[in-house]
Amino acid sequence: MIRENYTRIKEETGDDATIIAVTKYHTVEETLEAYDAGIRDFGENRPEGFREKREALPGDATVHFIGTLQSRKVKLIADDLYYLHSLDRESVAKKIEQYSDHTVKCFIQVNVSGEDSKHGLAPEDVPEFLDVLRDCGKIEVIGLMTMAPNTEDRLLIDDVFKRLSELKGKLSAENGGNIQISELSMGMSNDYDIALRHGATFVRIGSKIMGSR
Ligand SMILES: *Cc1c(COP(=O)(O)O)cnc(C)c1O
Repeated sequence: MIRENYTRIKEETGDDATIIAVTKYHTVEETLEAYDAGIRDFGENRPEGFREKREALPGDATVHFIGTLQSRKVKLIADDLYYLHSLDRESVAKKIEQYSDHTVKCFIQVNVSGEDSKHGLAPEDVPEFLDVLRDCGKIEVIGLMTMAPNTEDRLLIDDVFKRLSELKGKLSAENGGNIQISELSMGMSNDYDIALRHGATFVRIGSKIMGSR
């Protein structure tokens, strides 16, 4: 089933976007099945799951950290952290500086919709945060990430992805040094088609590839 799911979604995304299979609710065995189906990018949102899947997967697989990361937990995954999709706090950046021996490709998480404002920066706060990150040699900012609001309203989701894409355009004026805003991490199982229309380059898909829990 994983193979069929992946093949179908890959046809839809073409070469435009990297498909990340989100394995957070699935076992190591199922994750290895996804690897055998040709998937090489995986997403986890907790340090424990990240470690477990990283240790089980072959070296040519990439495990992306896609969830909120507490600064005190950075050291648990720093050795194997190459892609972080949720950077929105200086405290996490400082811990990466402290514990990583390589550069980490990071997406700035933006709270476009303004709802559940717990995670992600308001769009207007991103430039100031980028200025903080310019001094962080272990951080390489590659783009922006957002979560669509949890709604059935596809027009609202469309608007959120459109606004993240427009923000990417505006922020390109900030590019330079370790800051290069060119990628968009957006779109999950129920809305990746909308995200692709707005230029997503990384889609994070759980249930539609791995099956529901
Ligand atoms: C769980 C999760 C996903 C995937 O969700 P699905 O709806 O199963 O595709 C994507 N991104 C993040 C940050 C997640 O936590």
